[in-house]
Amino acid sequence: MKPIISFYTTRKTSPSLLKRFRRSLLSFVKKYKTTVKYALKPNRETAAFQQETIQNDTKSPSLKELGLDDFETHPNAAFPFRGGETEAIKRLEDYFFTSKKLGVYKKTRNGLIGTNFSSKFSPWLANGSLSARTIYWYVIQFEQEYFKNDSTYWLVFELIWRDYFKYISLKHKINIFLIGGILEKDYEWKKNLKVIEQWINGQTGEPFVDANMIELKKTGWMSNRGRQNVASYFAKTLNLDWRIGAAYFESQLIDYDVHSNYGNWMYVSGVGNDPRDRTFNVKRQAERYDSAGKFQRLWLQDTLF
Ligand SMILES: Cc1cc2nc3c(=O)[nH]c(=O)nc-3n(C[C@H](O)[C@H](O)[C@H](O)COP(=O)(O)OP(=O)(O)OC[C@H]3O[C@@H](n4cnc5c(N)ncnc54)[C@H](O)[C@@H]3O)c2cc1C
Repeated sequence: MKPIISFYTTRKTSPSLLKRFRRSLLSFVKKYKTTVKYALKPNRETAAFQQETIQNDTKSPSLKELGLDDFETHPNAAFPFRGGETEAIKRLEDYFFTSKKLGVYKKTRNGLIGTNFSSKFSPWLANGSLSARTIYWYVIQFEQEYFKNDSTYWLVFELIWRDYFKYISLKHKINIFLIGGILEKDYEWKKNLKVIEQWINGQTGEPFVDANMIELKKTGWMSNRGRQNVASYFAKTLNLDWRIGAAYFESQLIDYDVHSNYGNWMYVSGVGNDPRDRTFNVKRQAERYDSAGKFQRLWLQDTLF
């Protein structure tokens, strides 16, 4: 809109200039009508259309070119994918239409190991390579082509949490960063550096917490189940200032998002949207979600021997 507004406000317009402007605007609209249509309702055809019509010769600089150290993806990484929209769409295609894992999402979403227990869309969503609307219209397309069940519903439901935390930030502004959170709770919090470092380094002595923290440190990723447990342990069991935990997540997570991170941290720490004052029993959580100890062994084996 900006150029059009400035055209009308900053120039002396003559009829012929207006005609030319109108002509160029119409040809622009005609040319990009399909793009606009697809932008409003993105789907699989959109992706194909974009790939066919939009020539993209952009080459991202390598980490080395940016003066940063290169890195190898950890062999156990739950997010071994690459960044960018093309990769995001590939993942969307694979998770929905090739493996059809979307159809069992509700059953698997509390998993801990591997690529397919959850969608893994969050890093692309966080940096804007993928939009929630694109995912939504792909879900609708999946439901029309295959089936609609509680899993297809649940993925959209989870995306609504993401939106919800954005509205929480809009409403409560800087309160999301204050110690009392949006509930303005007057709790006592500790700041014991040694205990904080043990948590960061996966050395708390609580294996389920430690395994998750080591995964985060080595890969920049942690499952939602893991995040809930380590955050609850930090804020509720160790009574440490929840904002320090949130800031550490901010520095590590490849899907860091200010609203989802601070919103969830407040929620788990009892200063946010959960009216219940709950503390996770991490031992029981480990028994329930990692009964054979596979996840804990995966990340703790180096430290066990
Ligand atoms: C303490 C804590 C901190 C968190 N920090 C972040 C963060 O910085 N960035 C981030 O994207 N998510 C954060 N989450 C939410 C959630 O853990 C991740 O979105 C999810 O694990 C990403 O994996 P996925 O894409 O496979 O999720 P899926 O289970 O496949 O869900 C699909 C999408 O729904 C959204 N979603 C799912 N759960 C949540 C949730 N609880 N809150 C908000 N959105 C959700 C995400 O956009 C996600 O990509 C945090 C959760 C906790 C408990």
